[in-house]
Amino acid sequence: MRSIQKRNFRVVVEPRDPGDFGFVRIGGQTISPNERERQCEKIASEIRHHVGGLPSYGNRGVSVEWDEFAVCRHCGADWTEPSELYNGGCCQEDNVDREQRGTAEAISPSPT
Ligand SMILES: [Zn+2]
Repeated sequence: MRSIQKRNFRVVVEPRDPGDFGFVRIGGQTISPNERERQCEKIASEIRHHVGGLPSYGNRGVSVEWDEFAVCRHCGADWTEPSELYNGGCCQEDNVDREQRGTAEAISPSPT
């Protein structure tokens, strides 16, 4: 009979959301990906310095990980289109990109 066994134990730490001040939370606050990465690296560093039971080598078992998403390089909107060049007009710059490309894509559409 098959059973499920727990392995690869790890502790996952998530950074505090912007707008979360501990005693009050304000919605709609944003933080850039670079600021979020720096925030996470700072937390990882503090864990390495203050928490016992970590490996003694390398990054001491504390790493910052992330997921990657395709976004518009102009406005940061989620990428929703199969084309790698045009995101359906998410912003003015996206439309300008499309106009400048124009005929090139009409002749050889993106394989995606
Ligand atoms: Zn855009």
